[in-house]
Amino acid sequence: MVTKLASSTVSNSASLRKVLAAINATPPAGIAFVLDAQNKLCGVVTDGDFRRWLLEGCNLDDSLKDISLNQFVHATAGESLEEIISRTNDKIRIIPIVNDQFELVDYIQIDKRMHLPVAVPDLNQGNELKYLTDAFLSSLISSQGAYINRFEEEFAAYCGVREGVATANGTVAIHLALTALGVGKGDEVIVPDLTFAATINAVLHAGATPVIVDVNLDDWCISVEEIKKAITPKTKAVIAVHLYGQPCEIDAIKALCESHRLFLIEDAAEAHGAAYKGQKVGSFGDIATFSFFANKVITTGEGGMCITDSTELAERMRILRDHGMNKQKRYWHEEVGFNYRMTNMQAAIGCAQLERIEPIITYRNELEEAYKEQFEATNLFTFQKKLPDREKTVWLVSALYEQEDKTAFMKLMRSNGIDVRPFFYPLSAMPIYTPYSFSNINSHLLSAKGLSFPTHWSVEVGKVAKALRQFTES
Ligand SMILES: *Cc1c(COP(=O)(O)O)cnc(C)c1O
Repeated sequence: MVTKLASSTVSNSASLRKVLAAINATPPAGIAFVLDAQNKLCGVVTDGDFRRWLLEGCNLDDSLKDISLNQFVHATAGESLEEIISRTNDKIRIIPIVNDQFELVDYIQIDKRMHLPVAVPDLNQGNELKYLTDAFLSSLISSQGAYINRFEEEFAAYCGVREGVATANGTVAIHLALTALGVGKGDEVIVPDLTFAATINAVLHAGATPVIVDVNLDDWCISVEEIKKAITPKTKAVIAVHLYGQPCEIDAIKALCESHRLFLIEDAAEAHGAAYKGQKVGSFGDIATFSFFANKVITTGEGGMCITDSTELAERMRILRDHGMNKQKRYWHEEVGFNYRMTNMQAAIGCAQLERIEPIITYRNELEEAYKEQFEATNLFTFQKKLPDREKTVWLVSALYEQEDKTAFMKLMRSNGIDVRPFFYPLSAMPIYTPYSFSNINSHLLSAKGLSFPTHWSVEVGKVAKALRQFTES
């Protein structure tokens, strides 16, 4: 028997006091292995069993001899890890491994690392650590340093625009964009009902009035027709969100904004690299905003950027980002600004991520294809559509669950350690935003059905598909 296990084993005639000591010994915590006189494994006792015994009136001087032990799950040395793990569940997290003589040789403990989250940043295959270390060692760990300029220039160029203004995150990027465009009190800003709340929060923090409009059923993005209906003399801007990496009908929206003299902001937080008619999203609006949060397509930890073709707007955003301070005259403030700066360390990571953005996007798109292939036969899901003229980037592999109620499905996936996320709630469903709702039928339909699946470098679609089979067979 492996020596590290000795303290967790007891004989089948031990006192409950000894059993408790074994349960208390680590590793593994919370379990004791019971051996018979021939040293064969004959039981497994967990702290849960122990609690039940105490409640039934046992005391610490009682002997294990007088207690009938439950059946236990075990594995045999030589079995594959996958087979063993398949026997674990929410309750069974530790499985003893025995040899041919049924002697305890080891155990397997399932921990959170077996969990498949929705997103895991991909940081270890490029220059991320190298550039980060470089930025760190340069002492330029705040918002000065070469990586900031480089990241701004390179990301803007990647999107096909002139200027990039890096920010602390994607939410303040939207606020900065609105402020730089002069959008504020008394102005209406049209936003989609289906988006992350940052989109509308930024409008409210700018002091403007959001007007929430419905989305399309086919692309899940803001509806041009609904924008048209919602325009009033007070409308100042539209924020078009490229949801889950799907480009919205951006040329029609742009034309509409131009004809009504409205500003167009693209919230491209989820759509790095996506394109409409071959042109990258982010290059259509007066300003576009991105997020580099850890679960986004590329990341800087926290981080964001405003991009624009207007040098004038970029300059204004740079000043507002830095407390509204005059660039030539230090400590002289001409506007009430913010500290929305990105650090050189974040930008260093961003530069390295950007070097790999093409393979990262390709991988994500291929992952979605693998999901589609594995899920197709069930007819349970409608994946996010690929539409003509649009090259979407898969942010999170997302699909509509075409049955009554998605909760049973989500529950089963989660019990298999697979994090399946529901869509965003429609903004109009939340009391703090309901007063701003203009139209919202499709967003509610989509939100009720929508799910996102783990989308990152360590996903094995086979594992997800296996859990799915378990669900369809039950
Ligand atoms: C993530 C996200 C944001 C906010 O970005 P943060 O960097 O988290 O502040 C804004 N809009 C949308 C659509 C997002 O998905």
